[in-house]
Amino acid sequence: MPRPSAQRRTGVLRVLLLGGTTEAVELARMLSKRVDVAVVSSLAGRVSHPRLPEGIVRVGGFGGDAGLAAYLRDEAIDVVVDATHPYAARISQNAALACGSSAVPLIAFERQRWEMQAADRWHLVPDMRAAASMVDREGSRVFLTIGRQELGAFCGCEKAWFLVRAIDAPTSCMPPRMSLILNRGPYALEDELRLLRDFSINLVVTKNSGGAATRAKIEAARILRIPVVMIACPAKHTGITFTTISEVIDQVTQLTLDLP
Ligand code: NAP
Repeated sequence: MPRPSAQRRTGVLRVLLLGGTTEAVELARMLSKRVDVAVVSSLAGRVSHPRLPEGIVRVGGFGGDAGLAAYLRDEAIDVVVDATHPYAARISQNAALACGSSAVPLIAFERQRWEMQAADRWHLVPDMRAAASMVDREGSRVFLTIGRQELGAFCGCEKAWFLVRAIDAPTSCMPPRMSLILNRGPYALEDELRLLRDFSINLVVTKNSGGAATRAKIEAARILRIPVVMIACPAKHTGITFTTISEVIDQVTQLTLDLP
């Protein structure tokens, strides 16, 4: 049975917005203005001071796809919007399973990835381990921008030196030779150029997160002719995905038209 807080109001679509991205913050801002939508944003709780979306926010895992299905039922959710990070594959898989078993529609957003340009020198690798073995060479001065969760893959790299940038301080084991910068995007091109030059970086290791907020490091590497080790993006959704915020809003609007 839905809890009292989850009781339906006629003409209001109850949306669970799986977030953690700039686009999810923007979607929450747009949807929370509407009288025909009640939106709850969900964050994984990965960063200590997240950029909080407007409206109601919950933080932390649901307990797998079964826990998410129970949440959808308890909160009488009408639709799930998945606007999670491109590399957060498990939550997207859980959302697909939970929505499938609960007959709740899923609107999947995936921002467009960066595409290699003629002047880029990208090395595509399947995972962190492959990236670590590729970069651990004498003389490598590596700008490592993969977040903090998977830094452990690089803790056996004894030859390379790393400039690690993350939002929060890492808690796992880290490369023995490194400096740490704590910062959060968006980043400007001139700042990224300065950083790469100041630290004599000769290799960049990154995920292909797409979007504008962290793209400047890719542009800076291109300008300075620095190779980039690009870690492959996991598969998130098998069904239709939308790549713009306006398409997601249109999909939500379509569902409000069928409301009792
Ligand atoms: P994940 O591997 O897809 O998810 C792991 C678990 O975290 C999920 O099974 C779920 O727990 C919980 N979770 C993830 N996103 C959630 C959300 N929006 N609301 C509620 N619970 C959520 O994702 P991840 O561990 O966060 O990150 C995987 C990769 O994505 C890493 O490479 C990371 O650097 C990158 N990334 C993630 C975020 C983010 O906001 N999640 C942001 C930037 C980068 P339950 O199974 O218990 O429900």
